[in-house]
This record gives sequence, structure tokens and C-alpha cells, in this order.
Amino acid sequence: MIETERFIRTGRILVVDDQPDICTVCRVALRKEGYRVETAFDAEQALELLETEAFDLLLTDISLPGIGGLELGRLAQERQPILDVVIMTGSPSYDLLQDALQQGVADYLPKPFNIDQLRLTITRTLQRQQLRRENERLLTLTHVIEAGRAFTTSLDPLTVASALVQAVQRETATGCVHVDLGERGIVPGPGTHLPCGLTDDRERADACVVRLELQAHGKVVGQLVLAATNDQQAVARPSEVVSLLMEHAALALNNAEVYEALIDLDQQKSEFIALASHELRTPLSVVLGYGGMLKGKLDGKQGYYVQEITRAALRINDLVDDLIHLDRMQRDEFLLDSQMCDLHMILETLHGEMLPLAEARGVALQFRGPTEHMEVPADPVWFLYALAHLISNGIRFTPKGGRVVVSAGVSSSNGDAVLFVVDDTGIGIAPKEVHRIFRRFYQVADSRTREEGGLGIGLALARGIIGMHGGDLMVKSITGRGSRFVVSLPLNAPPA
Ligand code: ADP
Repeated sequence: MIETERFIRTGRILVVDDQPDICTVCRVALRKEGYRVETAFDAEQALELLETEAFDLLLTDISLPGIGGLELGRLAQERQPILDVVIMTGSPSYDLLQDALQQGVADYLPKPFNIDQLRLTITRTLQRQQLRRENERLLTLTHVIEAGRAFTTSLDPLTVASALVQAVQRETATGCVHVDLGERGIVPGPGTHLPCGLTDDRERADACVVRLELQAHGKVVGQLVLAATNDQQAVARPSEVVSLLMEHAALALNNAEVYEALIDLDQQKSEFIALASHELRTPLSVVLGYGGMLKGKLDGKQGYYVQEITRAALRINDLVDDLIHLDRMQRDEFLLDSQMCDLHMILETLHGEMLPLAEARGVALQFRGPTEHMEVPADPVWFLYALAHLISNGIRFTPKGGRVVVSAGVSSSNGDAVLFVVDDTGIGIAPKEVHRIFRRFYQVADSRTREEGGLGIGLALARGIIGMHGGDLMVKSITGRGSRFVVSLPLNAPPA
């Protein structure tokens, strides 16, 4: 509103009337209001002024000597399309006004008029003009927002470039727009045929082709090329909106590049892991093989050394296995063999497997299951692997004297799922770390984690395996108090 007021007060008005008194009255009264006012006594004089100065409003008498007021209004709007025309008339008939409004006249002022009527008509017209301009600006912004949405939702450089050319083509009168992405090639606008008006003739090219750099963080990520088509003589300089679109697109193109580099890095990491883990297997089998042959043949200190070497080699073997499983999972080569499994058998097996670790750590381990017989659809090897990892984490991250409780039962809120809950009274996980622990190779950086070793992939694997069962793995934790990992396994999931 403040903007509107300011614009109206600084509006530029051209008053045309062959009666000098009317011109003088309008000039004095409107200048007093803060407007910039010029006057002319006939259309010719007015048209001369319109050639050199920009106006927001033409206030003209309808009957002028020579070119009349309505024709002057038309000619004025031809030269300055945003200008509004208000006519003054001493004999306002319905037909005349109807005709005037149809010709694009914004308002009229019946003669004789007083200063208040003059002021009111001018303010009303300029207010409407301001609203119209605001509307047009908002419409332009809608295009920017639409294009911006395409920029932010895509990480593909070609999609971003294509959204930019479309938006720029809509915004400019330039018939031919394309984005030059260097090695990635050229993205032309819709209906544009390369070479898009480009010419070898330097002189013509200077006027007809504008190359604008798309820069993000000081780096050139492409070029927006505006080229005149054959029937155009030159290309208009980019508007503020086009500059804004370019800025956004440049950032999106930069993000796309960064994303691609990350994908590439991730790919390289996966390839390295796959290669390294497979290469480690052969020497490990040799160590374990010879360790096995020496077992029982040596006693005393030497027997103990061999036992420790074998134990360490088995640990490395487990880590390598985990790496290989993760790699298979990423390649979608991880297959499940789901079948109906006895829930009590699952709990008993886990109890048997985990008890030695719990005892060695001085952590109490409890299992609670339903009293009735129950079967769940799961891969007996991999589902147990995932649960065992959660329980092993619970034990490893719980100090001596603590407790880990594993409970299983049908979900009370969702009867179609079985919940496996692993509660521990351990060190807990800080809120800022909770969402990160499921990432591959992520370990919370504290001394206990370093003591425990590991590669930080167990939870990523566990979540992947549970996901492949159609289930979910969630965690709640309070630092220093303990953690709760909840696995929900749907009872009616189709076998994987
Ligand atoms: P790893 O494969 O090395 O055992 P995980 O992927 O299982 O690693 O776990 C990632 C990290 O999450 C661990 O390094 C640990 O910091 C944290 N974490 C997992 N389970 C628990 C738990 N029950 N209590 C506290 N921290 C845990």
C-alpha cells in the first residue's frame, strides 16, 4: 500500500487541452499533489512530448483541434503501452463514453469539474494501474516460482537447463534460446532448431547473439545463449527476471554437478569395497586353514598364539562377509528365502547365540515371548542375523551390570505385525546421532565405539534385511539411560 501511494504521488501526467486555463488549473492542482505534470494544447504537441518522455497517465480533452482526444489516446498507448488515458468532456453521452471505454480509455472527467473530482479521478486511475502492474509482476513471479520448482526438484543438469530455456523463452521476446552446458552439449528451447540463428558473420553475431555466463559460487556452470531469429535484428538485454532465473538455474546446475560427483565417489567406494573384500578372502582362508591344521598339534603358549591368530582371522572374516553382503544388497543381488518360522525357535536360537557374549560382558540377558505357538514369515538365516546384530549391539553398548531384554509379540496397534523389541540399559545414543546410525560406515564417535571396533555397517545391513521382509526398524534412545530398537515384521507380507 505504501508502495502504491508512493508511485501514485510520483506519477507522471500529460494534460492536453486547447483551453489554456484548463491546462493551468490541472497543472497547478496536480503538481500540488506531488505529480509531475506536463501540458500540451494539441495532439501534435502531445505526441512530441510522448516521443521524449515517459508518462503514466494522459489526461486529454476529447475534442481537440486536428487529431481528437480518442485518437491521441490510441497513438499515445501505441508509443507507451502502460500509459492510461483519461478523457475530459463537456458533453458526456452514454454512447460516447461506451465507445471511449471500448477503445481502452480508463476513465472520464465530465466538464466542468472541481479540484476534488480531478484529484479523485487521477488517483483512482493510477491506483488501478498500479494494481495492474503488481498483478503482472506477480504473474511473472509465478513463472519464476514454477521454473524454480523444476530447478530445486531436479538433480539432472539437462532437466534444469531445459526448465531454464523454457522459462527464459516465455519471459523474453527472443525467439531462440538455448543453454550451452559445454561437454554435456547444448539444450535448445522448445521448437528451436540449432544452430539457433547463430552465424559466422561476426558483425551480425554481435547484435544477434548474447552469451550469458551461468555462475554459481564464482564458477561458470554453463552459458545461456539468446539468439535472434532471422526476422529479428537484435536481442534484448536480459531483464531482472531472466537474471533471477539464471541465478537459480546456475545454483541448481552446480548442485547437480556436486551430486554427480558424489554418486561417482560412492560408486568408486562400492567398487573398492567389492574388490578389496573379495581379495581378502583368499589370504584369510589360508590363515584359517593353517590355523585349523595347527590346532591340537601345539600346546602351551604356542597353542594359545594359534588360537588367538585364528580368533582374529575369524573376526576379519566376519567383517569381510558383512562387506560382501552389503555390496550384494546395494547391487540388488541379495536374495531372501522366506518361510514360516516358529517364533519360539527364533527366540531360543538367539538366546543360545547371544548368551556367551552377554555373560562375558557381565550383562543380564532376558527373553520374553508369547505363550501360544506362533509362526512368522521370515528368512531364518538373515532375519536372525539382523536380530542378533541388534542384541549384540545392545550387549556391547551396555556397561557391566546392565540388562538387555528381548521381547516379541503381536503388535497391539497393528495386529498384522509382530514386534521384536530389544531394550538395553546402556550408554544410549545422542539425539543428533540417532538418524545417522543406520548409514553405511557410520559410527558414533565416542571412546566406547572405538573399543568395540566394527565398521559401522551392521545396522545398515539389519535395516536393509528387515526392509526386504517388508518390515521396519526404528530406534528410540536416551543418552546415558539406554536404547530401544523395534523391529516390526508384517505377518501377511508376501514371501520375498
Ligand atoms: P557396527 O557394524 O560397527 O557394529 P552398527 O551399524 O551396528 O555398527 O552401529 C553403528 C553405531 O551405532 C555404533 O557404532 C554405535 O555407536 C551406535 N549404536 C548401535 N547400537 C547401539 C546401542 N544399542 N546403544 C548405543 N549405541 C549404539
